[in-house]
Amino acid sequence: MKKLPTLLFCAFVVLLAVLGFNTWRAAAPLADIAPATPLALDTGAVTQRLGAAVRIATVSSATDPQANAPAFEQLRRHLETSFPRVHASLKRERIGEALLYTWPGSDPSLKPLLLMAHMDVVPVDPASASAWQQPPFSGAVQGGFIWGRGAWDDKGNLMSQLEAIEALLAAGYTPRRTVCLFSGADEEVGGARGARVAAELLKQRGMRFDFVLDEGLVVTQGIIPGVVAPAALIGIAQKGYVSVELAAQVTAAGHSSMPPLESAIGLLTKALARLQAHEAETHLDGVPAQMLERLGPRMGFPANVVMANLWLFRPLVADKLAAADSTRAQLHTTMALTMIEGGVADNVLPARARALANFRIMPGESVQGVLAHVRDAVNDPRITVSAQTSNAAEPSRVSSTDAPAYRSIEKSIREVFPQAAVAPGLLMAHADAAWFEPLADNVYLFSPVRAGPADTARVHGVNERIALSNYAEMISFYERLLRNAAG
Ligand SMILES: [Zn+2]
Repeated sequence: MKKLPTLLFCAFVVLLAVLGFNTWRAAAPLADIAPATPLALDTGAVTQRLGAAVRIATVSSATDPQANAPAFEQLRRHLETSFPRVHASLKRERIGEALLYTWPGSDPSLKPLLLMAHMDVVPVDPASASAWQQPPFSGAVQGGFIWGRGAWDDKGNLMSQLEAIEALLAAGYTPRRTVCLFSGADEEVGGARGARVAAELLKQRGMRFDFVLDEGLVVTQGIIPGVVAPAALIGIAQKGYVSVELAAQVTAAGHSSMPPLESAIGLLTKALARLQAHEAETHLDGVPAQMLERLGPRMGFPANVVMANLWLFRPLVADKLAAADSTRAQLHTTMALTMIEGGVADNVLPARARALANFRIMPGESVQGVLAHVRDAVNDPRITVSAQTSNAAEPSRVSSTDAPAYRSIEKSIREVFPQAAVAPGLLMAHADAAWFEPLADNVYLFSPVRAGPADTARVHGVNERIALSNYAEMISFYERLLRNAAG
């Protein structure tokens, strides 16, 4: 009997040793990387060029390809006059309102890389226009920021990529690897006229990219619980997207004075309640788990021990993440009931009622899987379930964190943001890069933009802005990335 406490004690010691060893191993220092020497930029000039780009209101429209065509023309001219070396040395092609640049590399045996950005912006909601501290299309420079719609999403990336190439050309640099730039003009409305057409064209030409880099995750500060340092998250996967229609149709429609036992609205709402009761289960694995493991060493005790030992603490961490809306979305395919309609008058029973549920699909799952899940949960033949195919998108593949391209992006981030922890992440939104996935070995989703908790609402919201110091970092990041990844 005396042996049991001794055994328990030994098991406890072994457990502590394993936890400690894993924590120590996770915290192994990374190879030293020297911070990049800041580029000699004419700060006034680069600021002025971005401000001028923001002042051109390139709002895209889903339905009208010609919407604001003069603005897009003006922006293309602004790029031409701002970046003379780029326009003298790179091949430029028009794809509708969009632009495709090619900078031929000296070694044709290397697969090209593709940097993406977009020229179009979302409109400014007139109801919130007065909440802007600077007029939304002013490009004003105030308090250390460039203000205006597009300063961040995505003219910051567009202009900083071109600034970096202009600077490299001025320094006499030639890439070994061919560099392509795609600057869309309808990204905010789905990219069907731009990125989709460009991807088809490049496919016909037999183009195959080593990697594609598009906007996506950012350099977060104070957003990830427990991580004090900036955390630069490189998106290695993005969720899929589908809206599913549920429709109830009944024959007993008409006057509401002698209603039948079952109405279209009644059937539909019961179906929606069943659907909500059958939300996809949450589980912590894949990319979000990889992110936490990578960030663990930058968390304090005991979070660092927990993240290094997810084999033991996974259920605990998953429960914690599932408790908040912002983190629960990382753990499953989400479902949001977004629209409902039915009925024409208060005394008429409608023959039909319909609702839409919007799903954001986890990598590894599929649109078909979502449909099967909805039919299963609803379990009523009187409800028709169908996917809206026009804007549906499958989730992306998961790109490699071992590929040389990922390491080049990571290295460039560490050179420009020396304090930052770098980790892979999952993008909840949907980026245009999806169109190029069939042409690329890997697709990464990262913008070198710094964002704190109050900043994420600025994208597509009010008071969009970019800090002048951050804009210089963005240019440096692309300059370093091209040197690191294009040789
Ligand atoms: Zn964007």
